[in-house]
Amino acid sequence: MKLSKMHLKTLREVPTEAEIPSHILLLRAGMIRKLVSGVYGFMHLGWRSIQKIENIVREEMDAAGGQEIHMSAVQPAELWQESGRWYAYGPELWRLQDRSGRDFCLGPTHEEIFTDIARNDINSYRQLPVNLYQIQFKYRDEARPRFGLMRSREFIMKDAYSFDKDQEGLDQSYQDMYDAYARVFTRCGLTFRAVEADSGAIGGSNSHEFEALSEVGESEIAYCEKCDMAATVERALCVDAKPQDDIEALPLEEVHTPQTKTIDEVAAFLGLETSQTMKALLFVTYDKEGRENGYVAAFVRGDRELNMTKLINALDIPEHAIEFADEEKMSAATGCVGGFTGPVGLHDCTIVVDSELLGQKNLCAGACKEDYHLKNVNYGRDYEGDIVADIKVLAEGDPCPVCGAPVKYARGIEVGQVFKLGTKYSEAMGAVYKDENMQDKPIVMGCYGIGVTRTLAAVVEQNHDENGIIWPMSVAPYHVMITVMKPNDEVQASVAEDIYKNLTRAGVEVLLDDRKERPGVKFKDADLLGIPIRITVGRGAADGIVEYKLRREADKVEISVAESIASAIDTVNREK
Ligand code: ATP
Ligand code: MG
Repeated sequence: MKLSKMHLKTLREVPTEAEIPSHILLLRAGMIRKLVSGVYGFMHLGWRSIQKIENIVREEMDAAGGQEIHMSAVQPAELWQESGRWYAYGPELWRLQDRSGRDFCLGPTHEEIFTDIARNDINSYRQLPVNLYQIQFKYRDEARPRFGLMRSREFIMKDAYSFDKDQEGLDQSYQDMYDAYARVFTRCGLTFRAVEADSGAIGGSNSHEFEALSEVGESEIAYCEKCDMAATVERALCVDAKPQDDIEALPLEEVHTPQTKTIDEVAAFLGLETSQTMKALLFVTYDKEGRENGYVAAFVRGDRELNMTKLINALDIPEHAIEFADEEKMSAATGCVGGFTGPVGLHDCTIVVDSELLGQKNLCAGACKEDYHLKNVNYGRDYEGDIVADIKVLAEGDPCPVCGAPVKYARGIEVGQVFKLGTKYSEAMGAVYKDENMQDKPIVMGCYGIGVTRTLAAVVEQNHDENGIIWPMSVAPYHVMITVMKPNDEVQASVAEDIYKNLTRAGVEVLLDDRKERPGVKFKDADLLGIPIRITVGRGAADGIVEYKLRREADKVEISVAESIASAIDTVNREK
């Protein structure tokens, strides 16, 4: 492709709405174009890279036994009502109606559609196992679309669904997908880590996320250097502090603690460690019609943080059905007092207690009375929980839940996730098969997603410098950029053309910058676009010499035209 003919618009300035390198560079390189918040179009170079990623995904899915199909993004509400997710998915589900008022949504994911295919088409164990997948646009009305392709409202996902006879079959299908994902992300040039994950709105028991490691990632990962424990912080189990069985429970004591609303303030005032206190977090919950239907008080030790995902799982409600409470309103209903709430004296709300608190003695808690706390609060004697569960965050430095070594934190971009769904959807929607004894059994399912557009952003995030993108060969829009210093110079033009033709004939994808621009402009664009191999045709052309440089390296070499062609073909074939 000749740049003089290509529709390309690069930007010198950093677009104001872009904060992170991948977003800035993809916009500046003219690869993506914003339409409205969270909705992007792909220009020629961007779309080529997307297709490269899609093809890597396709090859690995096919190699793992997947069969590609293509379902519509438009989904009837009835299927979502059957699975219960028309409500549970909440405001992220992009809903619409047709002219006669029938409800639909734009698919954020396709479990219902694929389960529907399975229940219609599969009736015998002889048809199992099977793995169906598709690559298409998905829609999620994200609360905070941001970072360009990283969190958008329209994005490309590869979603696959496996159907098995039993758990053993699912375990195998899951492992096959896990391995395929590792190959996909390796081929895309990503440094990544597979970590244990919560299964969120998708459901099921077992799940892993594939995280491209990056400081700008929105996922927080807890991992251990001593053993191989790695999990999202949402998911990571936390070891309870040792029960204080040897400590005697002291009598409950009310103490005056004026203006000590925070844990730090009250601990300092009473001369306690924050770990000798407990803190309350107050929430209101909503029913399916969106009406308030109750209050929740969650308690963790004063030095811990509440883990919202664990709390939601313990309550068994969707994420959108809970919010921080308006303290005044909650106070009237439950007796809580802002800044002075403890479990003693609370009423008419669901009390969720972190499991660790059961073994901790003589804690300080709010007295549910302005300016007062209680000392020596003990579980069982003074209060009880309606629910007791691990609802705390595994913090950096806490003991690893597997081996006890101090846990470390890292950040990642979630580029893929795999789930063992089990029979959640097949039971809700009646997807059964007949086994060898003609008995009806629910199909055992797994589902597997890769964010194709987010993967593109993650690749840029991990592969750039201050001048632009540094594409790995496998996902580069083109392999080689030939820059002609003076396109009007006949020798230069013909040498460039010669290299262009030879490389193209060898299957190398070449951009020829033959624009009548100053060399400075061309070099800036070449750095920005990040094509892996750059061949510069300048004055040396008369002697058959060109400059050869890899985008990822600082050094350039002067070599003969023939050598540059051979070298480029060799590098492309090795790395693509
Ligand atoms: P997140 O936690 O980031 O919101 P998710 O866990 O809800 O993502 P999944 O349902 O697991 O997402 O979807 C599969 C994959 O689709 C994700 O691993 C991610 O790569 C991609 N993806 C999900 N939401 C978005 C989005 N808003 N924009 C771009 N890609 C997305
Ligand atoms: Mg996910």
